[in-house]
Amino acid sequence: MPEGPEIARSAAEISAAIATQDVRLIEFAFPHLQPYCAEITGSKVLNVGARGKAMLIQFSCAKTLYSHNQLYGQWAILAPEEPANPKLQIRVAVHTASAVAVLYSASSIEVWPSAQIHKHPYIAKLGVELLATNTTVADVRRVIEAPLFQKRRLTQLLLDQTFLAGLGNYLRSDILFVARINPCAKLYELNATQRQALATAALHLSQQSYTTRGITNDLAIAKNMRDRGASFGSYRHWVFDRAGATCHVCTTTIVREDISGRAVFYCPQCQK
Ligand SMILES: [Zn+2]
Repeated sequence: MPEGPEIARSAAEISAAIATQDVRLIEFAFPHLQPYCAEITGSKVLNVGARGKAMLIQFSCAKTLYSHNQLYGQWAILAPEEPANPKLQIRVAVHTASAVAVLYSASSIEVWPSAQIHKHPYIAKLGVELLATNTTVADVRRVIEAPLFQKRRLTQLLLDQTFLAGLGNYLRSDILFVARINPCAKLYELNATQRQALATAALHLSQQSYTTRGITNDLAIAKNMRDRGASFGSYRHWVFDRAGATCHVCTTTIVREDISGRAVFYCPQCQK
């Protein structure tokens, strides 16, 4: 599943392709959305942005297209006459003079009045946006101190979008590694140093992943490995998806544990 950085990057690319342009046609696969075609066609794309893992495309007709990729959805940008991928089902297509933004396979697609979109059940509950340009470590630290979350296990909490918005499985494992926190820990068990490390790692790794197309490893280590011929998959992360490989810091073997059906990876030495 794409995580916050992937959705935010996708939003930036779609924005560059269609923002400020007139919608020549919008197509919806789902019959209940088709009444919006006439209303949105002919309006202008005002803004394209990500909130957590959702994409919001705002039109000048005061409607906003909400979509959440979940497991299978994916956005693509096509040239005006370029054929779509025949292996995937088109769910939405926004046509402008210079590009077509296509959403394949997703099922979570809605049209909302723009003035009400903040009340959408997913948007309304989102926690701190790690990829918002004005979010600071102090903002993240404040939510870490909130009494509501103290009894929660970090493995669950870091996937809870009402805590920190935009995190998923790869960021979860690597944030805990960088903060040197054991995945079994509960929030109230962390001391002040660990809380600060968690806040810093959550913000910095999310933003680094956005700017580097998904690298959460230390950038000097990643470059060194790449220069020696390592694959993207092997130098991309600190611990995620590296079970059986050696820790980049201490050479201990990375361990995988499955918690509630999602794999967590950690270094037993660095994250005691
Ligand atoms: Zn280690």
